[in-house]
Amino acid sequence: MSDNCLFCKISRGDIPSRKVYEDDELYAFHDIHPIAPVHFLVVPKRHITSLQDVSQEDAGVLGRMTVLLPQLALEQGCRPGPEGGFRVMVNNGADGGQEVPHLHYHVIGGPRPWKRD
Ligand code: AMP
Ligand code: ZN
Repeated sequence: MSDNCLFCKISRGDIPSRKVYEDDELYAFHDIHPIAPVHFLVVPKRHITSLQDVSQEDAGVLGRMTVLLPQLALEQGCRPGPEGGFRVMVNNGADGGQEVPHLHYHVIGGPRPWKRD
């Protein structure tokens, strides 16, 4: 937990968000500026700044996140199968275009066109 971190505050409920999913270790919520019909973020509740900062102890929660993402994508309206699908995007550090320094996976999908293809 980091006192001044936006996504720490969101995942512990100090700042409101449109929740998609929550368990002990993970929190998912709709992006405030969606670029497609489906656009939500999944974060580990434990503060990790980016993929540049993960360690072996994070392997379990990040593995669970990988299994969870497609389930949530379907629940949120992404189409199944090869004609459907979704995009997972993780920006890391300044060169990676990361704006919020708490590791988050964007899940983006739904019928095209999107605002940014
Ligand atoms: P990134 O550039 O990968 O760090 O993405 C940060 C994302 O967080 C952007 O898509 C923002 O629209 C989103 N975002 C910023 N503040 C909030 C917020 N309070 N609630 C939901 N999403 C947010
Ligand atoms: Zn944080």
